[in-house]
Amino acid sequence: MLYDIPVASPLFTGNEKKYVDDCMESGWISSAGKYVELFETAFAEFCGVKHAIACCNGTVALHLALVALGVQPGDEVIVPTLTFVATPNAVTYCGAKPVFVDSESETWNLDPKQVESKITSRTKGIIAVHLYGHPAKMRELKEIALRHNLFLLEDAAEAHGAICDGSIVGSLGDVAAFSFYANKIITTGEGGMVVTDNDALADRARLLRGQGMDPNRRYWHPIVGYNYRMMNLPAAIGLAQLEQIERLLEIRSRISKLYSERLKDVIGLSWQIEQTWARHVYWMFSIVLEPDFWHNRDVVIEMLGEQGIETRPVFYPAHSLPPYIDSAAGESFPVAENLSGNGISLPTWAGLTEDNIDRVCRALRQCQRKSKKI
Ligand SMILES: *Cc1c(COP(=O)(O)O)cnc(C)c1O
Repeated sequence: MLYDIPVASPLFTGNEKKYVDDCMESGWISSAGKYVELFETAFAEFCGVKHAIACCNGTVALHLALVALGVQPGDEVIVPTLTFVATPNAVTYCGAKPVFVDSESETWNLDPKQVESKITSRTKGIIAVHLYGHPAKMRELKEIALRHNLFLLEDAAEAHGAICDGSIVGSLGDVAAFSFYANKIITTGEGGMVVTDNDALADRARLLRGQGMDPNRRYWHPIVGYNYRMMNLPAAIGLAQLEQIERLLEIRSRISKLYSERLKDVIGLSWQIEQTWARHVYWMFSIVLEPDFWHNRDVVIEMLGEQGIETRPVFYPAHSLPPYIDSAAGESFPVAENLSGNGISLPTWAGLTEDNIDRVCRALRQCQRKSKKI
């Protein structure tokens, strides 16, 4: 089905085509081309860190970071249950066990108050996800990580440019992973990045990314690595996207203000509350319906769809998915379950017009009227 108003779409209004043409004309399309390094250097600078290691997607960026951090079979890693499945999957790829924690209702992120009770002698680290663009409570999480000698990895796939206590996301833990999938804040089609200030971690991630080949000795592989490299073509797109990121973030901020203004007096509706210490970058403007005042969430999604408006349900909490359901048996995650069961991500992308937003908000109000619950 084609929608008048898609939930997300990339926007190429800068040097994307010019840089891609340059790749094609020069013949350098593999990971050996110059744009990979240019993109890495510019992205490291954007995040205020020393190193950025480009790779082929965000999932792989998480996996690279975890392997570089030394995560092994038998280890445990604490993750929020409410996240995209790539977060716990990357832990599983290492043979380690993701240990789930519930979210807090204001930011929708990992609740620091519930982390410590999940730490065991096998716990190696914490992954903080900045869900839908709102940063997690990094100050509290960092204190816990330091106290228990754990690593702190940021899954910043949805939060390029977000700010926490005055510092930009990507610079707040030991290492961070970004995604540049087509619907993310900036995109390369498929793509990812590991960023860190730690020289040893960066070297290790680079080595692992390139088949584990000794940088000074061709075809000598001291470890089992991966081919997780990014190609020059997506890097060229990424560099052009990064050149425009401040403007793209401003547009998202404006979109979120329009949504909040138009929806603030709708009964039984809430969304992530931008905290005083945070800059929320609104990868998605996601709302939660209070069941007393609305049709079932899936019905609302269907009704919006009938009006040409594409939306997405909020992710299922990972503990409810078949690969993980047994490991979290008997535990309860009420906040994540409420957000997931009643949450909808509204169209949020840089090409959305004020008219589009008006239409989405009108359609939502109409949905509520039709439900006859108020
Ligand atoms: C998109 C996303 C990823 C994975 O990124 P891909 O580039 O799609 O592999 C990981 N974590 C979160 C939270 C994401 O939203």
